[in-house]
Amino acid sequence: MKIHEYQAKQLFAAAGVPIPKGIVAKTADEAAAAYETLGTKVAVVKSQIHAGGRGKGRFKEHPDQAGVVLVKSAEEARENAARMLDSTLVTIQTGDEGKQVSTLYVEQGLDIARELYLGVVVDREVGKPVVIMSSEGGMAIEEIAEESPEKIIREHFDPAIGLQPYQVRKLGNALGFDKAAMKSAATFLPKICRFFVDSDCSMAEINPLIITGDGALLALDAKVSFDENAMFRHKDFLELRDLAEEEPNEIQAQEAGLSYVKLDGNIGCLVNGAGLAMSTMDLIKLHGGEPANFLDVGGGANVDQVTEAFRIILADPNVKAILVNIFGGIMKCDTIVEALLGAYDNIGITLPLVVRLEGTNVEKARQMLADSGKQITTATDLTDAAQKVVGTLNA
Ligand code: ADP
Ligand code: MG
Repeated sequence: MKIHEYQAKQLFAAAGVPIPKGIVAKTADEAAAAYETLGTKVAVVKSQIHAGGRGKGRFKEHPDQAGVVLVKSAEEARENAARMLDSTLVTIQTGDEGKQVSTLYVEQGLDIARELYLGVVVDREVGKPVVIMSSEGGMAIEEIAEESPEKIIREHFDPAIGLQPYQVRKLGNALGFDKAAMKSAATFLPKICRFFVDSDCSMAEINPLIITGDGALLALDAKVSFDENAMFRHKDFLELRDLAEEEPNEIQAQEAGLSYVKLDGNIGCLVNGAGLAMSTMDLIKLHGGEPANFLDVGGGANVDQVTEAFRIILADPNVKAILVNIFGGIMKCDTIVEALLGAYDNIGITLPLVVRLEGTNVEKARQMLADSGKQITTATDLTDAAQKVVGTLNA
């Protein structure tokens, strides 16, 4: 689950991670008032969307307007805010459709001596969280990794103990910190690591992490996402969720107990089991197709769930064919086919539909499909299924 920059910064502040002063604004007047309240000569008006690259991003409605701007008067804050609010910001991370801005964060403008990169993620191979830092602040970490991988430094830490003082010195030395910066890092770095662990984050990224002229470290940007499997421990985080930022079909799927992730292809997939869903997508790609989604109906799919699954798949206008791939283990194949035929009637599917079944009661299930009189193509195995569904698009 992702949250906005201003929300992440509020959590940082509560965890003792230093942030600049800032005020949330929902209207142009509020943005102007925020400038006055901050009382700094320079303020920064920042679009709040769940995507980075805002500083270089531009609005569809106002091609010269950046998603993050420096302003030097209340009037300037108001004018920029008026253009930004309710407009669509396109950044390198939003895709061409962009994201509508409905909230702004007005922040004190800071005197930046150095911009660094800091990220904390879980390193699954090592089985520990890792702090990733670089002297190349403001740049995407993927770019740094490609252009100057030697500038990326990593330090794993024990989640129970946290980042230790010698580790802070190691990082600070590698980045050439002076005495003041080292002193600031001695609280900043362990605190962000503690926050990462205690909040069950899957990622906490500060890009840029700045060092001010006085040698203080501050989080100038904040990108945080939480591990959804740990949300039961953080009921208070649920109110930070912004449904407007999420794919409507993914929310609907979640409510129906389905795991659905929208992708960019045109072959809709309905599969039981996450591993099988992954391999189904792989097979589709192997045979020259592009999956439109990941969809796991789970182990105990009933007519309502399968109907909902078809509805969600068909709500995507890119979908041109559907592949149903079912392994009847816990669930018998004939039960799934019953649900499938029920859903087929409920929805009135007109797109090519390829079904591959295997497992308990498969013969009975295949007979049911054959007797149904519906335009359903059956497949003998997964390869056959992938070839057939890709074939319907080329037909
Ligand atoms: P994004 O990563 O989405 O582009 P950032 O929050 O990193 O958004 O802002 C983009 C750039 O704007 C930063 O790299 C920094 O140079 C500048 N900036 C952001 N906030 C401030 C601030 N409070 N004071 C001065 N400059 C800022
Ligand atoms: Mg940034």
